[in-house]
Amino acid sequence: MSEDKKQLLKVYFEKRRETGESGFFYNRRKNLEGQKNMKKSDTVTAALEKLEKEVLSCKRCPLGSSRLNPCFGEGSPSAEIMFVGEGPGYTEDHMGRVFVGRAGKLLDKIISGALKTERSRVYIANIVKCHPMKDPSDPEKRGNDRPPSEDEVKSCIPYLKQQAELIKPKVIVPLGSPSAKTILQTDERITKLRGKAYDREFGSIKVKVVPTYHPAYLLRNSSKKAEVYEDTKLILSLL
Ligand code: SF4
Repeated sequence: MSEDKKQLLKVYFEKRRETGESGFFYNRRKNLEGQKNMKKSDTVTAALEKLEKEVLSCKRCPLGSSRLNPCFGEGSPSAEIMFVGEGPGYTEDHMGRVFVGRAGKLLDKIISGALKTERSRVYIANIVKCHPMKDPSDPEKRGNDRPPSEDEVKSCIPYLKQQAELIKPKVIVPLGSPSAKTILQTDERITKLRGKAYDREFGSIKVKVVPTYHPAYLLRNSSKKAEVYEDTKLILSLL
């Protein structure tokens, strides 16, 4: 290397030191770490896609025969927060996506307003992937929703556990009583359960569980929004 080039490089590294940058090798290591993280999230995405394909053709329970579209779940493969509702409703069944109706819009507002993040940076799923209907012969009927049966939950919950094991969120947020009861394995009502963080094992992961009200309930009881805001503060303190 010529003396001129050596001198130029010396000046370049001195300037970097002055601005607090600690050198070429440090940044290279950071780049390698970034690439490693990228590879990890690619692997998780691929595993989630494989699982989603399984759900698309799933008939483990009777809901698989009446649904229009299964709603697997969506969001970041490296999400720190995982929201879990009870099951898809009319709009979700028609669109094949979770939380896209009025309740979903309110959930989006909670995510961006109180949690100061975006829907694409959290993960959203349900206890059951297919729409439980009172009259399974008519998916076009409005108000045809019902809670999933114990057997339906038992058949479907392994999918949610696998999603959690792949994503490894720091916090799972069950939305509403049925989801909170399933994840916390309790019969307590959501009014008693919310406002606290629980240490739980879900599938093979250890996770904090912070239950809160379902956005559909908030649409009917806007006075409960303050309590949900308190729950979001608790979630943020755990990240
Ligand atoms: S609800 Fe779950 S277990 Fe039942 S058919 Fe749908 S994906 Fe399969």
